[in-house]
Amino acid sequence: MEKNIHTFIGCDNDYDESKIVIFGAPFDSTTSYRPGTRFASSAMRNESFGIETYSPYQDKDLMDIKVFDGGDLELCFGSPESALKDIEEFSSEILKDHKLPVMIGGEHLVTLGAVRAAVKKHPDLCIIHFDAHADLRDDYLGQKLSHACVMRRCHELVGDGRIFQFGIRSGDREEFIWGKKHVSTNKFNFTGLEKIKDKIKNKPVYFTLDLDVLDPSCFPGTGTPEAGGVNFTELMLAIQFVSTLNVIGLDVNELSPALDQSGASTALACKLLREILLYFYKEN
Ligand code: MN
Ligand code: MN
Repeated sequence: MEKNIHTFIGCDNDYDESKIVIFGAPFDSTTSYRPGTRFASSAMRNESFGIETYSPYQDKDLMDIKVFDGGDLELCFGSPESALKDIEEFSSEILKDHKLPVMIGGEHLVTLGAVRAAVKKHPDLCIIHFDAHADLRDDYLGQKLSHACVMRRCHELVGDGRIFQFGIRSGDREEFIWGKKHVSTNKFNFTGLEKIKDKIKNKPVYFTLDLDVLDPSCFPGTGTPEAGGVNFTELMLAIQFVSTLNVIGLDVNELSPALDQSGASTALACKLLREILLYFYKEN
């Protein structure tokens, strides 16, 4: 018999021998519309056993690579600052050990904790951001630590010209005006994605994926669905391109399983995470 352990499918390797570490950041206290993303990581672990470890897209298998699932962080729901501090510390530890942190949100604010850790180690960090929403508000109802402000807070850490957004189709006018001056906002889809390689070159990249960049027809299970999004295959190809860059950390966020009545959104997120792990796993 073997120990009864609860991991994402195929991710039950030892920490020391693993090159990728996944962990959950179950936090959704600042969600502006419909909460529930705190349950995403545990739902994904459960549902992951419904998918194969083998990827026909890449002819690779999760069983052939070493990924460690560190479980979920225990985060304080009432205090964004204390949750972010815990995420930062955990991410720092993984980075210090030269492994790739892959965080499962949670609402999008959790990205700030991981980016704080990443920028400490890599001051020349660039950020690639896929999302339906610009997330560039300076505050949301007076709150600076909100998922609607997460990229604005990240900009304070990395500065102008370092954030590359794609798929954006929602935000207030101010966000788009501000964005034009300080970040690269690419609306609606992934047009122009490959051109950013000339700008980023081999600089360290943090990749944050808000799953609501997908169209609600294939991904309804999210708190702030936004019509007019990309499809699964388009997202896969875009992620494949991002994996050719020097990515040092990433996250997948905003799945809200309770809003996913068919289960299709959680299944999609699991399949996407499998592909991400296989894309970003590097032998050396
Ligand atoms: Mn977002
Ligand atoms: Mn979003």
